[in-house]
Amino acid sequence: MPEPGAAHASGGRSASHRFGGTPARRSQFKWIVLLAAAVVLPTVSLLWFMSRAVANERLVIQQKLSALYGQTLEDAGIQAKRRIHTRLGAFSGVNRELDPYGLLRRLVLKEHFQGVVLWDRAGMPVYPGSGTPPGSTDASLEAPLAEAWQLEFAGGDYAGAAERYGQLATSGDPRALAGQVRCLAQSGRWADAVKAALAPPDSSAAPSRLLLLSLLQKAGRTEPQSGLITALDRDLFKTDADRLPAEQNLFIARKLLHVLAPDTPAYDQLSRLAEAEQLSIAAAETFPVPSGPVDTIVPATVGGERVYVIRHPAPLSGEMLIVMNHTGLASALDGYQTEFAGTDVHYRILDSRGNLIAGERGEGIPSIVSAPLPAGFPDGTVELFFMDGNMFDKAAGRQIAMYVWTGMLVILLMLAVGSFAVYAIGRQIRLNKMKNDFIATVSHELKTPLASMRLLVDTLLEGRTRDEEHAKQYLSMIARENERLTRMIENFLTFSRMERNKNAFALTAAAPREILEAAVEAVCTKYEANGCRLSIRAGDVPDIAADRDAITTVLINLLDNACKYTADDKRIELALFADAGDVCFSVSDNGIGLTRRQIRRIFDSFYQVDSSLARTTEGCGLGLSIVRFIVNAHKGRIDVESRPGEGSTFTVRLPVARQNGIHAQNGNNTDC
Ligand code: ADP
Repeated sequence: MPEPGAAHASGGRSASHRFGGTPARRSQFKWIVLLAAAVVLPTVSLLWFMSRAVANERLVIQQKLSALYGQTLEDAGIQAKRRIHTRLGAFSGVNRELDPYGLLRRLVLKEHFQGVVLWDRAGMPVYPGSGTPPGSTDASLEAPLAEAWQLEFAGGDYAGAAERYGQLATSGDPRALAGQVRCLAQSGRWADAVKAALAPPDSSAAPSRLLLLSLLQKAGRTEPQSGLITALDRDLFKTDADRLPAEQNLFIARKLLHVLAPDTPAYDQLSRLAEAEQLSIAAAETFPVPSGPVDTIVPATVGGERVYVIRHPAPLSGEMLIVMNHTGLASALDGYQTEFAGTDVHYRILDSRGNLIAGERGEGIPSIVSAPLPAGFPDGTVELFFMDGNMFDKAAGRQIAMYVWTGMLVILLMLAVGSFAVYAIGRQIRLNKMKNDFIATVSHELKTPLASMRLLVDTLLEGRTRDEEHAKQYLSMIARENERLTRMIENFLTFSRMERNKNAFALTAAAPREILEAAVEAVCTKYEANGCRLSIRAGDVPDIAADRDAITTVLINLLDNACKYTADDKRIELALFADAGDVCFSVSDNGIGLTRRQIRRIFDSFYQVDSSLARTTEGCGLGLSIVRFIVNAHKGRIDVESRPGEGSTFTVRLPVARQNGIHAQNGNNTDC
């Protein structure tokens, strides 16, 4: 068995479906399209303006940054030039002729350059020129030396030869010292040999020390080597007057590097100096005399290597030509480093082939501004960039965000205003339609009773009645039509009052039974004429706070509907009872019933389940909306229980009056 449908009346109201016209819908659509256009067009224009403004903002920021950092870059170039000049100028005071290795050490170890060629004021080579080794060879020693050689090589008397050589070595001749060391080593007197090699304090003993070192290595004796190594390290790149000539110095340095372990502290420094010396020797061959532009770094090929050189004359101390590779060039450009240190802008210096010379690569990061290296530096480009990506976006970001938010706000505002306008216009359209529906319904509903009354009156006037009984019957028919007309007009007036929201109900304590009786009396004639069997069940209930006439109208409407929507054998029950502190009126019928969906809509104005013009029942779909309005105004509730084909029960619940005047009457059943 299906569940009976049930619903409570709600405060919502909707238009009838009966008079829904296509032209009205079309005009509604037109309005909506117009409004949509009114919102969409300005929105699109605004978005366009916004995108233009954003692009413009980016451009402006880019230009501002370019201008700002362009100047910074120019200043940095000037600073870099100044810096290299200052650095070169610092060497002017060095006495190059006396201390070329002092200069080389500073240039290589402190300034990170890779070589130097020095000329004196007369343009004569100073370093790395061919010099005389320290320690003089004594011509008077030729004969005794030949004697010692004889002993050593022909006689194989190493001990004797060693002694002889030792006597001759006191004169400082390096050949005698070398012979002594050789012979002592041959006779296995290693400690004496080392002692002899370390005895002379100057670097004239360097060849003998190197010789002993190699002999010790050959013999596999490692322990006495360290003293020799220290002494040799001291002999090389000496800043004293007894320095070795460049070629010899380089030769010994290379040999020593072979012996030294790469992780010894002296190794790195010695190898850098040796490399610089080698490059300096090659540069001296390429540039035998000072040539080329002054104080300008130019590319050159030295010893098959691509390097850069800078020629710097100093009026008092002659000329120097510094040789540098990429590291040296980066050092020469360190003015940029000083300029941008501590700022959030980074730089990179690229050579003409795009290779990084100095700064940071910043792979893939676009530059803010770029400029060629200033005069005095080789061909290349300096570029500035922000490490953390596109700063244009960041700088423009805030401004753009402001535009976007403002734009969004305006669009939202437009949408809100547009939606409100659509709602207001839609409401107006619905109201107009309702008015039209109302007029059409009123005319339609008034026409029928008026036409039948006119017909009856005409018949009576023309005296076409058979007898008085017949005439009376006609007159009562006119009275019925009149009554129907009156009820209908009352309904219209209530609806109109309801529409104007005029709550003109006078709430007083009223006896529910009296209301019930008044309603029964009002429908009695109609019920009799339609063959309705009405049973009334009235229980003991307290008074209610109500507008008596209004509640009577509610009951009349419900009883009217019960009769209208019930087929033959109309059995209707009207009950009055108290439930959960409320006074309830219920009207039940055995009529056509309603579905759940229909129940949800029957309280809407002008709604009718059967809205066809061919329907036979009178009414214009206002009865139940009036019922709901009155019940709501009384702070009551209306419930519907219905099942299609089986009948419906409408229950009106009203609150009890506060003064609580109770009519203690017994319940009974009455027939209409
Ligand atoms: P109407 O003037 O058409 O009767 P109402 O507002 O009184 O208007 O009722 C709205 C619609 O609800 C009716 O057209 C009818 O289809 C349905 N209805 C009302 N009462 C009943 C009922 N007792 N049984 C079945 N249907 C009903």
